[in-house]
Amino acid sequence: MQKPIVRDMFFLAQKSQPTTKDDLNDVRNLLDTFMANRAHCVGMAANMIGVKKRFIVVEFMNMPLIMINPKIIAKQDRYETEEGCLSLSGMRKAIRYRNITVAYEDMQFVRHTQAFTGFTAQIIQHEIDHCDGIVI
Ligand SMILES: [Zn+2]
Repeated sequence: MQKPIVRDMFFLAQKSQPTTKDDLNDVRNLLDTFMANRAHCVGMAANMIGVKKRFIVVEFMNMPLIMINPKIIAKQDRYETEEGCLSLSGMRKAIRYRNITVAYEDMQFVRHTQAFTGFTAQIIQHEIDHCDGIVI
């Protein structure tokens, strides 16, 4: 089910909790909301639909990739960039890394460790920041 986008900065500044199997309905809602906003959005975190749990969806190889309990376990090649966010207007400066390795679970809670580069890596870092209460 598509949900409205949260823009309340007090709510978005709170840290999210680990995701469990009880949260799968919310994961599906995030996917639906992402699909509805996909024309102008490349990723979303759960708290953007009002759920303080650690899961995100990111555009990856023209498909939405769901990452549950994502954690960056390695990062290299720091750079400065500018980003926007569906929960904000305008652009803000951000420090990102071109190469990251992420540990996450899929919707079956199977664990994956995967390397990402470039724009995909940037989106993942932005969405994981949301899980930590950081909006750019
Ligand atoms: Zn954002």
